[in-house]
Amino acid sequence: MLENTVQNGEAPEELIIYGGTGQAARNWRCFDVIVESLHDLEGDETLVIQSGKPVARFRTHEDAPRVLTANSHLVGRWANWDTFHELKRRGLIMFGQYTAGAWEYIGQQGILQSTYETLAECARHHFGGSLSGRLVLTAGLGAMGGAQPLAIKFLGGVALVVEVDEEHADRRLASGYLEHKAHSVEEALRLCNEALSAGTARSVGLVANAADVLPDLVKSGLRPDVVTDQTSAHDARFGYVPSGYSVAEVVAMRDRDPARVERDALDSIAHHVQAMVEFQAGGAVVFEYGNAIREQAQRAGLDDAFAFQGFIPLFIRPNFCVARGPVRWVTLSGDPTDLAAIDDAVLERFGDDPAIANWITIAKQHVPLQGLPARTSWLDLEQRWQFGSMVNEMVAGGRLSAPVAMTRDHLDAGSVAQPTRETENMADGSDPVADWPVLNALLNCAGGADLVALHQGGGSGMGGSISAGFTLVIDGTDATQRRIDRVLRTDPGIGVVRHADAGYAASIEVARERGLKAPMLGAESGDS
Ligand code: NAD
Repeated sequence: MLENTVQNGEAPEELIIYGGTGQAARNWRCFDVIVESLHDLEGDETLVIQSGKPVARFRTHEDAPRVLTANSHLVGRWANWDTFHELKRRGLIMFGQYTAGAWEYIGQQGILQSTYETLAECARHHFGGSLSGRLVLTAGLGAMGGAQPLAIKFLGGVALVVEVDEEHADRRLASGYLEHKAHSVEEALRLCNEALSAGTARSVGLVANAADVLPDLVKSGLRPDVVTDQTSAHDARFGYVPSGYSVAEVVAMRDRDPARVERDALDSIAHHVQAMVEFQAGGAVVFEYGNAIREQAQRAGLDDAFAFQGFIPLFIRPNFCVARGPVRWVTLSGDPTDLAAIDDAVLERFGDDPAIANWITIAKQHVPLQGLPARTSWLDLEQRWQFGSMVNEMVAGGRLSAPVAMTRDHLDAGSVAQPTRETENMADGSDPVADWPVLNALLNCAGGADLVALHQGGGSGMGGSISAGFTLVIDGTDATQRRIDRVLRTDPGIGVVRHADAGYAASIEVARERGLKAPMLGAESGDS
């Protein structure tokens, strides 16, 4: 999984996987030692990784995790980029993003379905379930953002995606995620309008800076239906490219005068977000897509930066209430026929769930394989356990030629505290309470997941989030079935409990229905 993560990354030579600077290992020396250690790790040993550096191997027991990793944690008051960059310069830490530092990254196919599901919810809320005839304006064709044009196309819409780095646009063209590239606003709008009039789906990448283009488009009177953003705005120093710089210039300036780059980037982000606020005032559906762009604009002094909401409270929370979210599986044989066998089994087992059936059918036909054959699907509490058990039986019965790694995104009900994303606007105001992801990680250790990872920072940058990930290697044994029985109940279970505790009726109902023992379910804690 580590090697697969690196192979699918944006800049493998630097061990950078996605999300600006998210890494899988601290440096190549650490990578090599991790690989060596994994090769001869005993079945009752646990390898301990501190921000991408293997620091210890301890004798634990067979049901304990084989790998424990903690990424980018800084103590509260020190959790800022300045401290982080200084520590990184001294070789003491790395930025793990989410699935990068947890070795769960499967390339763009991982984010593709989540982007599809998010935009599908947006379409259901506002446009009768389809984006046909709708213009979606966004920016960023990076590792995650590069999924936007294809997801919008799957929903029948027209995507206009502004990307400052032509090489990144070219990469998405080559992978088939993007259809057209334009160098001027006029050319891009002509291509979009053609498709809008014909009622056909299309994606257009515009090579330009979003901080320039969006304000100009507002002034021009353009009325997109949906506006969002996937630039690496969470990192003003090494992610977002300020207006007035070419990509080469910003790379050089980041070395020479990083504080200046940060100031300029924040100023550009403020203009960018101001334009998004104005698009909303003009009637567009506008939302933040998990890159902290509102928070950064607020830092830059934009008072109404939070005039629009994030995608979780707007579209996703009802899914989280029942622990429905993106699960992923990776066939460790590398054999696409194993993936096809699981696809078929999922369609047979879960075919009466239209969302699962629809996605697996689309994915089978249209999602290119990347690295080890892998798939994602949004599954809820019960479905996750059913899926894991089904795959374990398939491995045991020889229907799959090798074990399968099952894991999930950090876009999740109970394993993430991120007040501008997963936990924005919680019903009880508990947005920044980070006990839940810590409990999630502890539970997954207790349950015996094969890898447990606990992260700070993630998609919102230093100080912005705590999240936990896990991986289970499903190898067809009875021992693994016992681990499945524990982990695939507790991991989503704590998501249901977290939302029940916040007062969501749907979660309280699911917890009761599924017999989750939550001693204070639906009750006030009664104390301040
Ligand atoms: P990335 O760094 O790979 O890509 C960002 C892209 O934005 C790059 O291609 C970059 O050239 C481009 N860009 C930067 N400044 C720009 C500007 N001013 N105008 C136009 N383009 C510009 O990052 P990524 O992995 O694609 O992630 C993007 C953001 O989304 C990050 O902030 C990440 O933390 C966040 N994220 C969100 C989710 C989610 O669930 N919604 C998931 C993962 C990551």
